[in-house]
Amino acid sequence: MADKVEKNKVVEIHYTLRLADGSIEDTTEGEAPLPYLHGVGGIIPGLEKALEGRSIGDRFQVTVEPAEGYGEYDEALSESIPLNAFPEGTELTEGEEIFVELDDGTATQGIIERIDKNDVLINYNHPLAGETLTFDVEVVDVRDATQEELEHGHAHDPYAEDDEDDEEWDDDDEEWDDDDDFEEWDDDDDWEEDDLEDDLGQDDGKKA
Ligand code: ZN
Repeated sequence: MADKVEKNKVVEIHYTLRLADGSIEDTTEGEAPLPYLHGVGGIIPGLEKALEGRSIGDRFQVTVEPAEGYGEYDEALSESIPLNAFPEGTELTEGEEIFVELDDGTATQGIIERIDKNDVLINYNHPLAGETLTFDVEVVDVRDATQEELEHGHAHDPYAEDDEDDEEWDDDDEEWDDDDDFEEWDDDDDWEEDDLEDDLGQDDGKKA
């Protein structure tokens, strides 16, 4: 009740995210609120800062510049890849997202910017890079994180249908996560205009 938003609290928020032109990029309206672990960089810095010290029931609006959001748009974050570097049968469509395996074996997500005769231009900027973001936020719940959540570094979603740790891909436990997603955009949901909810947390998009 008197809980304030501070480091290592699990906070649940409802939010609506608008871009500079007023269009709604994402909202939890009509859905479950988004839980996240506060103070660990699980959501974008500008939003996390604005939530610090808030209480259950607080409503506020905050405008987040790119530097405190998804970063500035970086022209250099694109790469031309020869068409023949893709496995045969790979479906390539301009404007679609694609996972590209890097030299170190990790995969990163980009958008297919342009398909030329011999190569493909991939843009690795976050889709919201360079955007000024305005959030209308309501703090729905604040509670202490469990030991497990602290160890995992993220909130466990009470609204998720599945046992989240069965579907989780963590640094620590290498499992798929289905609870949160704001920071990581390696997940399908970050890329869909109507479903930024999971970006707000940390990992993938299967949460309610
Ligand atoms: Zn976990």
